[in-house]
Amino acid sequence: MTTEIETRERLAPGPASSSVLWEYAPSLESTDHVKIASRYNLFIGGKFVEPHSKKWFPTLNPATEEHLSEIAEADAEDVDRAVKEARRAYDKVWRKISASERAKYIFRIARLIQEKSRALAVAETMNGGKPIKESRDVDIPLAAAHFFYYAGWADKLEYAFPNRNVAPVGVAGQIIPWNFPLLMAAWKIAPALAAGNTVVLKPAETTSITALMLADILQEADLPPGVVNILTGAGATGAALVSHDGVDKIAFTGSTDVGKRIQRALAGTEKKLTLELGGKAPNIVFEDAPIDQAVEGIINGIYFNQGHVCCAGSRLFVQESVAEPVIRKLRDRIGTLRVGNPLDKNTDVGAINSRAQLEKIQELVASGVEEGAEMFQSSCSLPARGYWFAPTFFTGVSQSSRISQEEIFGPVLSVLTFRTPEEALEKANNTPYGLSAGIWTEKGSRILKMASKLRAGVIWANTYNKFDPTSPFGGYKESGFGREGGRHGLGPYVVLS
Ligand code: ADP
Repeated sequence: MTTEIETRERLAPGPASSSVLWEYAPSLESTDHVKIASRYNLFIGGKFVEPHSKKWFPTLNPATEEHLSEIAEADAEDVDRAVKEARRAYDKVWRKISASERAKYIFRIARLIQEKSRALAVAETMNGGKPIKESRDVDIPLAAAHFFYYAGWADKLEYAFPNRNVAPVGVAGQIIPWNFPLLMAAWKIAPALAAGNTVVLKPAETTSITALMLADILQEADLPPGVVNILTGAGATGAALVSHDGVDKIAFTGSTDVGKRIQRALAGTEKKLTLELGGKAPNIVFEDAPIDQAVEGIINGIYFNQGHVCCAGSRLFVQESVAEPVIRKLRDRIGTLRVGNPLDKNTDVGAINSRAQLEKIQELVASGVEEGAEMFQSSCSLPARGYWFAPTFFTGVSQSSRISQEEIFGPVLSVLTFRTPEEALEKANNTPYGLSAGIWTEKGSRILKMASKLRAGVIWANTYNKFDPTSPFGGYKESGFGREGGRHGLGPYVVLS
């Protein structure tokens, strides 16, 4: 089966000929309409203010390593300032105005995101490395959709929680990662505001720019000062926010390691906590599945966002009888993925978000080779500058190997096989995670049976990586707890009596 498949043990990107069937003329999204400031300060109490630390750190474009801007580093004093502003705004303004007034502000934010969607998409791509077609068609429209959706709930909370008294929690500290910078901000801020809370948000250190552009939008929307504060910085800033006494709730999305640290820090306190952590999602293809669509779904599930998705379908389980055609089609398809300039509208796979992330991917891929799995890698040529990793998959993967257990967060897929649905279930559930899963089969009854036994918060059938603000998202086991999105997403931001 594998003799015709070219195997490459090439870890570092080197010169290789492109296997793309034909070339498209470059189609670059213009950047001249995007105003990225040379320096960004902290957004506290409705104003941009210098950090107490008087420190700024550089942020760059991971596709070119070009310097984009300088970002303020918030220290514990700044966290204290921001939390106090959030408390003041909560007590004096936000909890006092009517729910329908709150809705108007949230609706206005949604409209402004739509109006500025082109600039936001370009900035997201420049700072994060993801292809423009992802930021333009997925990230930014979904960010606006979340604000629209939760604007609708703000004055209907009694219908979300019938026969209960609903009160806000207070000040929410929210910490987000770099994979969906603006979308994660929207996931966190929109339900918090709708339920009447005020917010201190900390974006990830490598991707702060669109959160700061959102701060401009909040000003333009006339959101009362202090209702949302945005503090940039790295892990220490996040840790200071977590441990601040004035915060009533922490919502965190990021690595399982940091999530566990936060959980320990909050043990024994009154603070509410929701965690959305890592994943190692199984994508299960049965022999009766429409194979071409399944292969496209597998590609979408792991490669289109460089695998920078916590719910990425990073473990493929194929029924043995169709393993040969699936693997052959997969190999052919990764050869046609266009890897390169994320601002090009034809690009499928963009840059890895940071050098540190690239090194982590390289290290895990090396462990896969060492542990004896067979590696297939696209022979696409990679740009000389920036952080890149060619789409890769492994076959002959053992269940206990690191590449089948650990989250790689890169364009790397592990392929395993199974014979019976029971075996697929057992193998699929055999990780510390439980965020998402995919099932590909023609049989509706099989979808329902599998879905009821898979330990995963989100299960897609005959599709993958589809999101909607009305649908709750969240995990089991080490993937965290609490749900974001949908009516469920309001739950962590309310106190019921
Ligand atoms: P990733 O591996 O996706 O970068 P991290 O968990 O390291 O995930 O980062 C997610 C977010 O958590 C980022 O905003 C980061 O700055 C923040 N963070 C990192 N360390 C801590 C910490 N000890 N306490 C709170 N937040 C942290």
